[in-house]
Amino acid sequence: MKTIADLELVGFFRQLASDYDIRVPVLLPDGGRAFGSIDDGALALGGGALPTKPTAVFFPQDDTLFAQGSGGELLVPEHSRPLFIAGFTALDLRCLKFIDRFFADGFRDDVYFRTRESAVVATVSGYCGPDGALLPLANGDCDLEFIALRGQWLVRAYSNKGEAIALLIPGEASADAVAEVGALAAIVNPDEEVIKAASALLLVDAVPDSFWEEIAVNCIQCSGCNLVCPTCTCFGVQDWRYADRLERSRMWDSCQLDGFMREAGGHNPLGTDALRTRRRIHHKLAADMTKWGELGCFVCGRCDATCPTGIGIVAIARQMVAQYGSFQAG
Ligand code: SF4
Ligand code: SF4
Repeated sequence: MKTIADLELVGFFRQLASDYDIRVPVLLPDGGRAFGSIDDGALALGGGALPTKPTAVFFPQDDTLFAQGSGGELLVPEHSRPLFIAGFTALDLRCLKFIDRFFADGFRDDVYFRTRESAVVATVSGYCGPDGALLPLANGDCDLEFIALRGQWLVRAYSNKGEAIALLIPGEASADAVAEVGALAAIVNPDEEVIKAASALLLVDAVPDSFWEEIAVNCIQCSGCNLVCPTCTCFGVQDWRYADRLERSRMWDSCQLDGFMREAGGHNPLGTDALRTRRRIHHKLAADMTKWGELGCFVCGRCDATCPTGIGIVAIARQMVAQYGSFQAG
């Protein structure tokens, strides 16, 4: 294990830029944080989970799948260098693992994996949450972990790619730093229990249609909940004609939008806000549970923070449990 000081981080990431396309959390002019290159703004590795969808680095909002040149030749977008991403939290990693499995299921999504497989993913944990709050340790499922201690970061590698990068940091971590990491407290998110209780209710169909009508009256179809969610994977496909090529691309879709499932003949199986809101929550808490054996929501908090009308998944789950929670699973 290695340690690196706060002030050395920018130089370290610059050093990697000759081999990798670097994405790190940077400060935006409005004070927010987002993934960017090392030259896009001041490095802001600390501060907690980024408010936007972290998995967008592998599944961008708008992505070219392939193109056809004027001579009929197939043009497949290539990345000149693999991505190096630092700034996922341990929760974000669980979401990434979830969509890795989704994109590998059945027809393997080569567009997703052409970026994902070559990438190096570095997690942040330790005292780097909002105002220095403790973030949970990842303990694996990534290439590298940057664990914030007081004034320095302990760097732990979990893969060959991560080991090779950690070797660029001179020296070894002190026994005190390693012991400090060992003593970090486990973090429990109380909202996880609410989400599990709501899932149990949905799995036995204990929530009536009237509940969704009551909730969904608040939806203004801004689609923010889907746009920030690290496990949302729905997209639409478009073909574009340019002077020199035809191009096929995909763009995120939102199950809260009226046209999400509308058919060419006009029928819409999700033709009301109530049906669409039910579907969004039911998919994460019941359908994913049935298909994968785990919830599709890792309680990252983004949709609750984003929804302008207060119907993020935790808010809905709390209300559901309050109204129908006398039900006991099993
Ligand atoms: S809390 Fe909301 S944004 Fe986060 S994983 Fe769950 S549904 Fe998605
Ligand atoms: S963020 Fe809220 S208001 Fe916007 S689409 Fe989602 S549920 Fe509806």
